[in-house]
Amino acid sequence: MIVATDVNKVYPNQCHALKDVSATVKRGEVVVIIGPSGSGKSTFLRTLNQLEVISSGSIQIDGMDMYAKSTNINDLRANVGMVFQSFNLFPHKTVKGNVILAPEKVLGRSRTELEPEAEALLKRVGLTEKMDVYPSQLSGGQQQRVAIARALAMQPDVMLFDEPTSALDPEMVGEVLDVMKDLAAEGMTMVVVTHEMGFAREVADRVLFMEDGELLVGDTPANIFDSP
Ligand code: ADP
Ligand code: ADP
Repeated sequence: MIVATDVNKVYPNQCHALKDVSATVKRGEVVVIIGPSGSGKSTFLRTLNQLEVISSGSIQIDGMDMYAKSTNINDLRANVGMVFQSFNLFPHKTVKGNVILAPEKVLGRSRTELEPEAEALLKRVGLTEKMDVYPSQLSGGQQQRVAIARALAMQPDVMLFDEPTSALDPEMVGEVLDVMKDLAAEGMTMVVVTHEMGFAREVADRVLFMEDGELLVGDTPANIFDSP
């Protein structure tokens, strides 16, 4: 599903944020990445969505080489959903409008077709009652659930989560993690950067550590959290 090989990222300021990072994520796998702030976790996720261009190495998603001339980057990106720490919703669109926008504009799909899909997605994240309100009328936890529904509207094969609960008040963390747990249970392939160790322990198939730009070999949560 995802094969990253010897990925390096050097930012223009010479910060070497990723150092020979290699990782494989299989279909249906949930991989959690943990590590100190500034270790390169966010940079790595962003390279998987081509929000950052890598300096060397290769990344394949679903057998498509991200940097091959023949690969259409928009197709590839549509395949990879991303949820950020800050929800980044469009403030002048209703909740439903936010969910419909990308498949309408990027994939050219019709509203008639998308409306029922958006309603089903919003039901799935528990926001049926909020479909017609604006993001500013929602709590942080609700906004993040809209952001998840919006990413799912593109029908991605992989979902990337970059500290999805870090900006939330503590009492709202659970409702977002529950949606992510449901997704994992449905077999979604997920890469999740988080400090929520309970989530990692309960949901992850593997936990990877990142430190100073290097991705250290990971293990199952049982071996990491329960070993003496
Ligand atoms: P983490 O997600 O683990 O906190 P980041 O991927 O955000 O780590 O950052 C990794 C390193 O890359 C840090 O040293 C950070 O300062 C640097 N970095 C991140 N983004 C940029 C950027 N746009 N330009 C230059 N350096 C950056
Ligand atoms: P769309 O139908 O393109 O998804 P919205 O669902 O966001 O757009 O908007 C629904 C209606 O509400 C539109 O007629 C729009 O003009 C109007 N509208 C947009 N932003 C606001 C706002 N901040 N307050 C009140 N009405 C708005």
